[in-house]
Amino acid sequence: MLLRPNIVPSSSKTKILRYASSYTQFINGDWTSAAADVIEVENPSTHEILAHVPKGTPGDAELALSAAKEAQVSWEAKAACERGQVLKNLANLMAEKKDFLAKTLSDEQAKVLPLAKVEVDASIEYLNYYAGFARIYEGEIIQSDDPMEQIYLHRIPLGVSVGICPWNFPLFVMMRKITPALLTGCTVVVKVSEYTPISSFEIAKLFNDAGVPNGVINVVTGEGDSIGQALVESDVPAIISMTGSTAVGQKIMKAASSNLTKVNLELGGKAPVVVMDDCDIDLAVEATWASRVIYSGQVCNCAERVYVQNSIADEFIDKLVKKMASTKVGMPETEGADMCGLINPTQLEKVAGMVERAKQSGAEVCTGGSINQSMPGYHYEPTVIVNAKQSDEIVQKEVFGPVLPVLQFNDLDEAFALANDSEYGLTSSIFTQNAATVHRAMKEFKFGETYINRNHFEAIQGFHAGLRKSGIGGTDGKHGLYEYLGTRAIYWKN
Ligand code: NAD
Repeated sequence: MLLRPNIVPSSSKTKILRYASSYTQFINGDWTSAAADVIEVENPSTHEILAHVPKGTPGDAELALSAAKEAQVSWEAKAACERGQVLKNLANLMAEKKDFLAKTLSDEQAKVLPLAKVEVDASIEYLNYYAGFARIYEGEIIQSDDPMEQIYLHRIPLGVSVGICPWNFPLFVMMRKITPALLTGCTVVVKVSEYTPISSFEIAKLFNDAGVPNGVINVVTGEGDSIGQALVESDVPAIISMTGSTAVGQKIMKAASSNLTKVNLELGGKAPVVVMDDCDIDLAVEATWASRVIYSGQVCNCAERVYVQNSIADEFIDKLVKKMASTKVGMPETEGADMCGLINPTQLEKVAGMVERAKQSGAEVCTGGSINQSMPGYHYEPTVIVNAKQSDEIVQKEVFGPVLPVLQFNDLDEAFALANDSEYGLTSSIFTQNAATVHRAMKEFKFGETYINRNHFEAIQGFHAGLRKSGIGGTDGKHGLYEYLGTRAIYWKN
């Protein structure tokens, strides 16, 4: 039977309202009037209500889109370096509020403070990194068949973009939506998650001082099936860039199809870790653990399943179990805490339900396997599972919690076959000291990203992209920038 989490009823949640007690939507450079319906934003570690935000309506979507559409003409007419300067200004203003922003993130998300600080730093870095592209991205001149003609390929901004964000990295993903769009001359309506909107609204407070013209960035929140759906169904956006679950990505693609709007989807994952018998076992254990407990397992590229070569399986599993059991769980500000609780009761019930069903299907829990009710929040114990079958839900579906099923294989052919047997195709990793094995991994892993002898975490200059049901298109680096640019051919005959 499923152990029910200690869910605090809404009526008994403490109303602290630490931040601006009520945020409104940020549209056309200004805060709109108070909404009729609001969402209470909960601190998942303490159950305090931190603030109220609007339950966004289709009317809010329309206002934000028309502000972005109006601002598009003058924004794209500016020199790219002028747009880049705005990104740098925003980065500087964020740097002045670093500690406050990190605290906001950890309060609204149950994220350990050091990781929240990393997220703020990475967001600032992201703005500065893309600002540098202002003088770098370029078109092409092509040889014509006619000596009196030149063919030019111009890179042009696509137009209004809609960014739809999840709750797990609210600031960093918001920057992923805003930054390449702005630099290339696209205006933005960003719909931030209804669970974690506070840090995003705090960033919006900086836009005017950073020199963002009215309407160039609009920040709204609310539920997906209301304001979210209205944004993606509209014929205004030229591109919809969404990060979130595969199920919602599919809905968005369907909605976008009525206007043939371009979609860029960064969706769920089920990353395999392959551990070869020639690897440094301690490194493999440490990196696999780090790739699972980061933000309590709620990261798209997290290690979600492990395949270990059977000759070293006992040693690896023994060490991994000890490492997972030693995970320090605490509140966001607990000194040395590796992880806190999950984002909400729905996520906790999902994780607990998946482990229960794995047990019922014959899997064995080596450590963890239960809801942890010893402190406030929505905690699930760091868990290692063995004897699951490849076809089990726990091996096939994204858990998004601190749970690792470990399976075994005989040889490399079997390892790749098992790892690639997934509807997801986001990230993968392998631990080996054999160069030939690395070569095979580079060719045979069917995932957008592969990490060799290290934990799962991407770099801003790379390309973060999922295959199969993990997404369409990608983000970061030069290729992420080109997602926001169209290519137009000009034929000039003298
Ligand atoms: P989610 O899909 O539930 O929600 C994402 C966003 O979509 C939210 O803002 C939500 O309000 C909005 N939304 C929901 N229905 C909508 C609709 N019909 N139209 C428009 N918008 C709608 O995801 P989540 O629970 O916030 O985030 C967790 C998921 O995100 C996980 O599956 C994780 O793997 C994935 N994720 C992927 C990446 C990546 O880069 N691939 C990064 C982070 C998170």
